[in-house]
Amino acid sequence: METITTNFSDFQQFIKKYRNDIFLLCDENTEKFCLPKILKEVPYLADCQKITIKSGEEHKTLETITQIWRFLTENGAKRTSLLVNIGGGAVCDLGGFAAATFKRGMDFANIPTTLLAAVDAAVGGKTGFNFFGYKNEIGAFAEPKAVFINIDFFKTLNTEDIFSGYAEMLKYGYISSKNLLDETFALENTLSFRLKGEIACKQQPISPVGRNDIEKIILQNLEIKQHYLKIDKFDKKERKALNFGHTFGHAFEAFSHKTDKPLLHGQAVAWGMVCELLLSHILLNFSKEEVLRLLYFVKENYPALNFSCKNSQEIFDIMQHDKKNSSNEINFTLLADIGEVRINQNAKKAQILECLDFLC
Ligand code: NAD
Repeated sequence: METITTNFSDFQQFIKKYRNDIFLLCDENTEKFCLPKILKEVPYLADCQKITIKSGEEHKTLETITQIWRFLTENGAKRTSLLVNIGGGAVCDLGGFAAATFKRGMDFANIPTTLLAAVDAAVGGKTGFNFFGYKNEIGAFAEPKAVFINIDFFKTLNTEDIFSGYAEMLKYGYISSKNLLDETFALENTLSFRLKGEIACKQQPISPVGRNDIEKIILQNLEIKQHYLKIDKFDKKERKALNFGHTFGHAFEAFSHKTDKPLLHGQAVAWGMVCELLLSHILLNFSKEEVLRLLYFVKENYPALNFSCKNSQEIFDIMQHDKKNSSNEINFTLLADIGEVRINQNAKKAQILECLDFLC
């Protein structure tokens, strides 16, 4: 299991094992906003070879993987070298996959620079890229050797990216305890200078109290993730708890990428959680009040889904293609209550369409 640290000096200590045999991967934004800070704190990395890829989901492709492989080959990377991925979920997924397959597997470390990557994508060993219009269609399980989290990187994120990560934080609350869920909802006040104030407040520092709260909850989220990784690394059983919100969520995300208003991963997951709480209410008697609490929050803070009822069949078809399905049934992770996870739940087509109609 990967080492998670929030301390620059621990990270410096970790990479020293690789001497100068280290390669850096950034995207256009993280090269500009995050790399200078990393090089200042960890000067040891300053002489490393670096590749900068284009940012954004549309570049999470085989072409970008090829670009990274070529960079590693041309610069003499070996199986014993280390690739350091500096970026959001896209960079972590791409860099992780490129490293996992380069010379049958070289080591890699993740420095997540988005909230979403910190609480989710950088940890857990799922790597890959999009293919043929399908999200993460090609991939491999490969764990980073280390993950370094520093919430200062999030200062340059825009509102949408913060909210995208925040949805995954709420997910951890739903699948673990009411306490954590309430604490996570309460965090919104701490984050709100950026969530509501946007550009005007961009450089406002996070208060020390807020900073501790955010970091504490992020680390709690990762403990939950690591618990599931420990008992079910390959997503066969218990780890499916982490998929709550993601069956509808992935379909919304994939569908939105065919429109002129593509959703971020966490934005789609936020709406996915609304639908899956509703389905939990229908199938498992999950509290209606809790469905409404999330619905109002998501409605207020996330962009509306760009589909109408006539697209429901198409969204249903995308759900049928989901990797998480085991037979012809669409596989859901639902909740009987907050923290009461039920994996491998199936619903009738009419019930799934009912949830989509509700959102329309
Ligand atoms: P992203 O990596 O595309 O980053 C979002 C945007 O923020 C990009 O434009 C990026 O360049 C920019 N950015 C990154 N850090 C920045 C910073 N500190 N300051 C300013 N700009 C910055 O998106 P994401 O939301 O981080 O991750 C989404 C991706 O993660 C999706 O591809 C999703 O499939 C994947 N994901 C993977 C897992 C997993 O377990 N492997 C889990 C969840 C999501």
